[in-house]
Formats: sequence, C-alpha cells, structure tokens
Amino acid sequence: MSRKSKGKVYLRGLIELSNICRKDCLYCGIRCSNKKVTRYELSDEQVIELSRYAMDNGYGSVVLQAGERCDGNYIERISRLVTDIKKIRRGGSVNALPLGITLSLGEQTREVYKEWHICGADRYLLRIEASNPELYSKIHPCHTEPQQKMHSYKTRLEALYNLKSLGYITGSGVMIGLPYQKRGDLDRDLEFFTSFGVDMVGMGPYIPHKETPLGKLSFGANSSLPPDDGDFAGYSAEQRLLLSLEMIRRLRSLMPQINIAAATALEVLDPDGRSKAVLAGANVIMPNLTTVEMRRHYQLYEGKSGVMDDAESTGIKLESQMERVGAKIGWFEIGNPEKFL
Ligand code: SAH
Ligand code: SF4
Repeated sequence: MSRKSKGKVYLRGLIELSNICRKDCLYCGIRCSNKKVTRYELSDEQVIELSRYAMDNGYGSVVLQAGERCDGNYIERISRLVTDIKKIRRGGSVNALPLGITLSLGEQTREVYKEWHICGADRYLLRIEASNPELYSKIHPCHTEPQQKMHSYKTRLEALYNLKSLGYITGSGVMIGLPYQKRGDLDRDLEFFTSFGVDMVGMGPYIPHKETPLGKLSFGANSSLPPDDGDFAGYSAEQRLLLSLEMIRRLRSLMPQINIAAATALEVLDPDGRSKAVLAGANVIMPNLTTVEMRRHYQLYEGKSGVMDDAESTGIKLESQMERVGAKIGWFEIGNPEKFL
C-alpha cells in the first residue's frame, strides 16, 4: 500500500437505525413495495447504547444508516440523536474526543442537511449508485410521475453537491456488476468520483435480492423489467467480487488521499472479502453493531451475516485479519481523509 496512511485502517461502527423507507429502488430488499419485510426502528436508547459501545471499543466513529424518510418528526429525531451521540465521551472525560458521525440517510433538503451538520454530523454517505443517468433510470422506478420524481438522478446529484458545499466530508459510491451495466459505465463511475472530488467512497458488488424486480432477473423469476442486456448478464459471484476489487484498486491509484470503505456486501461473496478489499486499497471497515434480532430485517441484499461477535473477539479477529494483510487498525481514531486532518 503506497498511500500516505501507511496501511492504517479505520473502523466505523455501523448502526442500522431503521428499515422504514419511502423509496422503491428496484434492487433493494427493503424497498417500500416489499411487503414481506418486518419494519423496525431502533429506540433512541438503543442507538445511544450502540454508540457508547463503539466509543468504548475504540471504533472512533459511527455510521447511522436507514431507509429514506423525510417527515418532520424523523428529521428532529435525527438532530437529537446526532447531538446526543456527540456528547458521549470515553470514560466520561470532558477532554476526550467525541465520536465521528457519518450519516447515510438518503436524499434530504439542503436545510435538513444543514441542520444535521450543525448538530454534529461530520460526514455523509450518499451513493450515486450508477453515474450514468440512463443506467440510473433503469434501476429505479419511473412508471408513474411521482415515482419518477422521487427517484430522479438530477435530485441525487443536487443532494451530493449540497452536502459538499455545506462542508460535509462527502462520500459516494456505486454498485458493481448490476444488470444492464457495461464496462464503460464503471469507467465513467471512476471519472465521476474524481471530477466530483469525493472525500470517501463506499462501493461494492451488487447482490441480487429475490423479492425485488431487479433481483428477479437474476433468479430467473418473472420480473416486470426487460431482460438484462448488459455486459454483466449472469456474471458469477466471483466475477462481481473480482470486478469490485479491481474498482477499488483503480480508484486508489486515481485518488490516493481519500477514504475507501471495504463494502459489507463483499463479505457475502467471500468471507475474506474485507481483507482482499484492504489489500486492493480500502482503508475503512464498518463492523455491524446492529443487534442480530433487528439485523435480519435489514436485508438490502441476501446472504448478509447474522453473526454477532462480542467486542473482544471482534477486536482480536479484526487485528489478526488486518495484520495478515499488513495493515494496522487505527483504534480510537476518527480517521478523516487527510484533507480534513
Ligand atoms: N437509504 C439510504 C441508505 C441505505 S441503502 C440510501 O439509499 O442511500 C445503502 C446502500 O445499499 C445503497 O446506497 C445501495 O447502493 C446499497 N444496496 C441496496 N440494495 C443493494 C443490493 N441489492 N446489492 C448491493 N448493494 C445494495
Ligand atoms: Fe430505500 Fe436506500 Fe433501499 Fe433505496 S437503497 S429502497 S432509498 S433503503
């Protein structure tokens, strides 16, 4: 690894706040049309407890992720949670550093982003999903006008520019190995990351979910969508894994200073996916902190790990996994990209 961080890997404790979502993305297992999902929401107390766990176990920062919601009560709730998480200090010491907070809560208005940033959110992760607008429109519903409006590429892009101009450390990403996706689309994704000037990237393999229109294409079930005509039609899991690792490698050489996450979806394809991503150039890993009971309802894709390790064994496992690939964990470090140090 040639980048300046000398093989250091930072941890983000992932908290899957809720699987309630107003959107209907054609690839996602928790899309609002999937009536088989049991919807849940963690309580404020649970979120604070998980954040405290992250702090006590040296994670340095947390990611709050959820389906997309825009109602006033929800917006206020996030503001309150961000404010409360920022107050958590190691050992209760006022001089200790607060946790870094990354939000991954979808598209919101500029005002909402601003409010959450003022409350203490440092970073925001909003994937562009597919930087080619044509491909974007194929993987999002556009059958009715309200749907089209809610899943607009233009709005997505505007949201990303809003985040950046408000001063967030801004992250984006794409899915790799999507139906309809061509190799040129992936080249374009890399160009997008450089021209936008992302501070962090979370990109990973597309994993079909059989209760989604896009997933049905892969499972050979009847889908409302036309058959896949992309280069990656029927690409095996291994090919999607290799392609994802190649994308990380290419991005790292293009953008040596940014944070690149080893996507959790990689682990579905390979139990060693995380280490391989770090070898390819990723420097962020996101252990899941969500309780197992809730986690099984947060299936964006199928095959997600349901195993909950206790803190000590997670720490030891991570240390030895990372040691094997020559990386060191930045325990208790917030791990911002160099530009923000
Ligand atoms: N609702 C928020 C955050 C949760 S979804 C949002 O959409 O931004 C987080 C990410 O999960 C999405 O950006 C998408 O890229 C990824 N995802 C959803 N379904 C997936 C699938 N079937 N395979 C791989 N990644 C998926
Ligand atoms: Fe909702 Fe995000 Fe899934 Fe789209 S990707 S359906 S916004 S949770």
